[in-house]
Amino acid sequence: MIMRVAQLGSGTPEIAVVAGVHGDEPCGVRAVERLLDERPTVERPIKLIVANEEALERRVRFVDEDLNRAFPGDPDAKTHEGRLAHRLIEELDGCLTFSMHSTQSHGEPFAIVNGVSETAKEIVPQLPVAAMVETSNFAEGRLFSAIDTVEVECGLQGSETAAQNADRLTRAFLTAVDALPGDTIRSDLPVYRLTDVIRKQDADTYEVFVDNFTEVDAGDPFAAADGDTQVADEPFYPILMSPNGYRDVFGYAAKKLDVLTAPPAAD
Ligand SMILES: [Zn+2]
Repeated sequence: MIMRVAQLGSGTPEIAVVAGVHGDEPCGVRAVERLLDERPTVERPIKLIVANEEALERRVRFVDEDLNRAFPGDPDAKTHEGRLAHRLIEELDGCLTFSMHSTQSHGEPFAIVNGVSETAKEIVPQLPVAAMVETSNFAEGRLFSAIDTVEVECGLQGSETAAQNADRLTRAFLTAVDALPGDTIRSDLPVYRLTDVIRKQDADTYEVFVDNFTEVDAGDPFAAADGDTQVADEPFYPILMSPNGYRDVFGYAAKKLDVLTAPPAAD
């Protein structure tokens, strides 16, 4: 058991849905399993993948290393995820890919893209997300450095809401790419670019004093490690910030780039 690969519809898929890149984020797996149970009639073939089955089984983020830092991988890699990354790229070659994650930092869904491409601008405003985050400064080793991918953060890790969001997000994506029938709703979408990593020193207790996607002013305290407070040098938007979500970083600082506005609804 390495990776589960299935397909809806016949022909060679140019669209893929990926769940379980991280084994402790089960929300997307539920969305994929539901599609496999219901087998909706699709207008384009779709590849469905549950990526890191071994980590999912063990309920850990990864077995040897973070899969979403291991791309492009290598068939002879020493790590499970190094080999898996290579296999996953072979499976996803030529597919516009939708990959689902969840976080410990933010309950509301948002999208993560590698650059504000035409594809991102077309697809992401049709998803039920509150923001689009552009992370090309930090793309190394991530799936979207190798495959054209829209990532979504579906909500809080392990929550029922994240699983329900994963389902809604997947259906919206598949509708936006004309694989499922129907219409999507376009909404105004703020776009952010990650500019810096916010590191944390080794400590026993961590605190975060700010809300993700809410601007922090220069001079404001935003986090602390063992009571040692970090203060903003300049204004920034915190993204993926949480006290204990990552081992050595609190999260990221971002700039707000733009708001993509929805065209007025046609009557
Ligand atoms: Zn993840």
